[in-house]
Amino acid sequence: MKKFMDSHVHLKNRNEEVLNIEGLLKEMDDADIEKVFLMPANSTIEENERMLEQVKGHEERFIPFAFINPYHEDCVERFTDYVLNRCVKGLKLHPVCDAFPADRAYMLDPLLEICDRYRLHCIIHCTSDAPNSSPLQFEKTAKRWPNVTFQMAHMGGCWLSNDAIKVCKRNSNIYLDGSTVSLSAVRRAVSSCPDKFLMGTDIPFYHFEMEKLKMHYATDDPEVFHKITYKNMEDLITERRW
Ligand SMILES: [Zn+2]
Repeated sequence: MKKFMDSHVHLKNRNEEVLNIEGLLKEMDDADIEKVFLMPANSTIEENERMLEQVKGHEERFIPFAFINPYHEDCVERFTDYVLNRCVKGLKLHPVCDAFPADRAYMLDPLLEICDRYRLHCIIHCTSDAPNSSPLQFEKTAKRWPNVTFQMAHMGGCWLSNDAIKVCKRNSNIYLDGSTVSLSAVRRAVSSCPDKFLMGTDIPFYHFEMEKLKMHYATDDPEVFHKITYKNMEDLITERRW
């Protein structure tokens, strides 16, 4: 039996090393990873299509997320098609790479309305290295859609992790993923929000074993360790009724 679930994985080569679906499956098997939230490398149509083609037949292990740029004119139609016909369970947004504020309602609401209608999960990149993607901006968006679950990827980065933790504590629909985040910030998040913290490795930038080790150092409590590496994500999947 696999013992871990990972909430933040991209289908993307690691430098020169090819990480297609077979390569990812091997890394998952080697690290006892049962299931992951899978995203393309970026928001281009080509990368979304590449991921959705490769993931076919592997839906037991990979939960696919569409990586959408809200500036694309056909983004709502394309996202709806991915959800209805391509097994997509969630939305990935990157306010830094795709250059939009995380709280720009008129751009994001048409996409989030689809998330609301189909009980989807929304992952938004949130770091402190850009002025358009802070935890407080993330919160404004999440508050408008209380029936959508939101995952704050990188939980505010280097400097805004305390804001991220506050925002998570006061909003039942917000989860934190500690991918690329310092151990000290992760320890604070795990002790403050043990039921809403999700392990995330950000493959291909790191390895599963590195993140598992970080989770071991994040808590001494075996029950909390099981929550942050498996049960919280399993409960989220159950709550979303996927
Ligand atoms: Zn990522």
